[in-house]
Amino acid sequence: MKGICILGATGSIGVSTLDVIARHTDQYKVIALTANNNVQGLFEQCLAHQPEYAVLVDDNKAQELKNCLNASAFPDITVLSGADALTYVATLPQVHSVMAAIVGAAGLLPTLAAAKASKTVLLANKEALVMSGDIFMQAVADSGAHLLPIDSEHNAIFQCMPAGYQTGMVTKQARRILLTASGGPFRQTPLEELAHVTPAQAVAHPNWDMGKKISVDSATMMNKGLEMIEACLLFNMSPEQIQVVIHPQSVIHSMVDYVDGTVLAQMGTPDMRIPIAYSLAWPERFESGAQALDIFKVARMDFEAPDLERFPCLRLAYEAIHAGGIMPTVLNAANEIAVQAFLDGDLRFTDIATVIAHCMQTMTSQPADSLETILTADNQTRDLAKQFIQNGLVQ
Ligand code: NAD
Ligand code: MG
Repeated sequence: MKGICILGATGSIGVSTLDVIARHTDQYKVIALTANNNVQGLFEQCLAHQPEYAVLVDDNKAQELKNCLNASAFPDITVLSGADALTYVATLPQVHSVMAAIVGAAGLLPTLAAAKASKTVLLANKEALVMSGDIFMQAVADSGAHLLPIDSEHNAIFQCMPAGYQTGMVTKQARRILLTASGGPFRQTPLEELAHVTPAQAVAHPNWDMGKKISVDSATMMNKGLEMIEACLLFNMSPEQIQVVIHPQSVIHSMVDYVDGTVLAQMGTPDMRIPIAYSLAWPERFESGAQALDIFKVARMDFEAPDLERFPCLRLAYEAIHAGGIMPTVLNAANEIAVQAFLDGDLRFTDIATVIAHCMQTMTSQPADSLETILTADNQTRDLAKQFIQNGLVQ
């Protein structure tokens, strides 16, 4: 029986993870569930999965949850609050695996702590890896933790890697990764209309049902930019070895191109329970609840190169990884602020890239040699981005 802690349990990935775990209660026991401030969502999950710990970052909301649990059949569930409690539950001795499914930089510290504590880290929270880069990968290597990708593309690549492959290793047999992307809801929208698209249009993804932030990232293709950086780190490859491929049907979840000319692809219905189940069962497999792929219904698959004029965020991600040092941290932080401003109705869709480019030009490049440097760069970039947006994009 393996103990699991789910960071970000009430989100899209968290809910799918609990759905898979409920099918395998003989193999997994839920130790801890965490959320930001969703009392009702976490309360219902506590009733269904009876964890030892429930964490809400917000103190008042945690007290509300405690009151609800005291009046329920499960008053013994320990309720904790505050960001430090995330790290506490992610490193408990009875926790074997940690699902890192918090959105954004807020997930970095507990996820890094889990890696340092040699937990099996199931990584959905790509922002945490992109912002901390080599520091995160080094922590995994030093502790001997297993790091399994949940992002469907990286999970697909991992599945297509040679037997025995572990994230972070170099493999000379694989020469290239073909990183697939749906192209999001605006793949064919006339360019002049993009400035006027609304948050509701941007979060309506054609193939996947996801949280708001990643849905906007998919619409700008910053998601693919973050994933390109994520792939370089997880699979020890250069950006030149990662080819982004627009594949609107989202049936192939990515491919590995080998030196002998073999290309291995992983396919399946677009359902996050597939990569989640693969990582939970690894190195075995078990049932995920996803529908079998109906290959006749798929009928055809298309592939095209991405248009960097339509998707400047993808270009900025390549610039950030080439610049190295703190630039991926700057890219990520600026994007988080810009996306939130767009969702709040304070920024046009096309100005998300404007904000990121401004932050990348203004922040001074330096090596990302410590966690402190990274956290400082993250904070400074957030302030810079907010100021730029408040000033109406005038410096
Ligand atoms: P979501 O918005 O649906 O859920 C986010 C979760 O994080 C919630 O439980 C929320 O309570 C928690 N959270 C938010 N802010 C927090 C904070 N400041 N402190 C602590 N907890 C906080 O997001 P999601 O779509 O489930 O995505 C989660 C992560 O997984 C993201 O990094 C995303 O890029 C990645 N991912 C998601 C999908 C998908 O299909 N949804 C696919 C691939 C990767
Ligand atoms: Mg993905």
